[in-house]
Amino acid sequence: MICLTLSGSTLSECLDEIRENREYIDSAELRLDLLSPEEQRKASSFPSMVDIPVILTLRRKEDGGRCTLPERERRALLLSALDGSFAYVDIEEDVKRNDVEDKAREKGVRIIRSFHDFSGIPDDIYSRIYRLAERGDVAKAAVTPHTIQDLLRLFRIAEELRDVPKIIIGMGDWGIPLRILYRRAGSLLTFACSGEAVAPGQISARDLRLMYHADKVTDRTAIYGIIGNPVLHTSSPLIHNPGFHAINYDAIYLPFMVDNVRVFFALAEYLKMRGFSVTVPFKDAVLMYLGNITREVKQIGACNTVVRMPGMWKGMNTDYYGFLAPISKDIESGRIRNSLVIGAGGAAQAIVWALRNRGVRVTVLNRTVTRAEKLAKINLCEYDTLSNASLYEGKVDLIVQTTSVGLYPDFDANPIEGFRFSGREIAYDIIYKPKMTKFLREAEAAGCTLHFGEEMLLEQGKLQFELFTGYHYPRSLHPSL
Ligand code: NAP
Repeated sequence: MICLTLSGSTLSECLDEIRENREYIDSAELRLDLLSPEEQRKASSFPSMVDIPVILTLRRKEDGGRCTLPERERRALLLSALDGSFAYVDIEEDVKRNDVEDKAREKGVRIIRSFHDFSGIPDDIYSRIYRLAERGDVAKAAVTPHTIQDLLRLFRIAEELRDVPKIIIGMGDWGIPLRILYRRAGSLLTFACSGEAVAPGQISARDLRLMYHADKVTDRTAIYGIIGNPVLHTSSPLIHNPGFHAINYDAIYLPFMVDNVRVFFALAEYLKMRGFSVTVPFKDAVLMYLGNITREVKQIGACNTVVRMPGMWKGMNTDYYGFLAPISKDIESGRIRNSLVIGAGGAAQAIVWALRNRGVRVTVLNRTVTRAEKLAKINLCEYDTLSNASLYEGKVDLIVQTTSVGLYPDFDANPIEGFRFSGREIAYDIIYKPKMTKFLREAEAAGCTLHFGEEMLLEQGKLQFELFTGYHYPRSLHPSL
């Protein structure tokens, strides 16, 4: 079940939230602690107003909620709300047997026995979940992973407790895969939000259902993903998930925050992942775990696509082709002969090599000139420091902006501020958020032809899709990134 955590302060706001999200959810959690005191007293009427099962929760402050009532008053409030036809009631692990529990059992309301840990994962998590579910209740553990190792541990615990009725939640960024793959982890449900997350790391119900199809994941679903740090801003799930869906391929693609590539490979084995994309800062760190790499990966020294092969992982680089796709014709026609590449980071490695390989002359400009020099030497091209950019005014056909300057939310930054475009240049910024960077705005004002980072992102993603699935990316799909 995808369960919407209601965040309204009145019952009518909660009803609106359900109405807005109805097509994406199977159940809802009424958080009494978020309701105003007058509304709390009317809560028993709520379940009969909706057509989905509702969980009754009155979360204490120490467990991440807002309830500061003395325990006796909290119990009284829960007891009166239980006059309504709730499907579940959440009772915390440390609450001794009382009249709330008795009334719930009498009425056939299922009990969710929960504990929360906002600082980490308790050592005894396994036995606590096991114990909480002993009386046929649903055990709920909301804990906080801080590393990819923690996430792997949670998946393993979930697997070992496969037959225990439970909900295991990994709060925060590190736990997101567990929220999306809740069915793979054997959790009864995953909590979702409608707008702002009510708990750390919550995903919108719309994304869980429409983008990830999280409620359709089974043991047979092929798992793909993207690793990076940070990674949650990535648009790649918007390319791959709709593609899988359009070709009826039972697969899911999700982001993984990673701090240790070796442990991620262990998780990838554990989840039997079929492949994954790689973004900053792991494009070279993955190399040592690959049994096979393509010529591009070898020459560029960076890999952005990893695919499972029998007995090994194979690494490829689709950034190379993705970058070239929008400008290939201009290179072939001779319109592009001379280029300026701004930046000498990971992305520039693939770009400089791609241009050189197609016979285009390149000058690399970078803030740290030693990095530009290193890249230029490998690729037999020129280099200079960024502050000398004006020396190249009017002398190149293509200017590629590959630095992170101008990236969201830094809308007003341009690494070659004041550069005078002649208007004849093709200006290509590989940043895709925002689409129109300051660099491109200035180039456009001078009359240059523009190319956008999202063109590269989409092209490299489509190639990745082919490597992942063996099928062309559906022509009818035009993801908005
Ligand atoms: P990276 O390896 O960290 O390199 C960052 C580059 O930006 C370096 O050249 C760095 O110069 C330069 N830089 C950073 N801050 C600067 C500043 N304040 N002034 C001048 N230069 C600065 O990152 P990357 O992997 O190459 O990625 C760079 C950008 O490309 C990111 O925005 C990423 O989103 C985008 N990208 C897009 C696609 C796509 O498909 N469209 C694919 C890959 C990457 P120093 O060497 O002096 O530090």
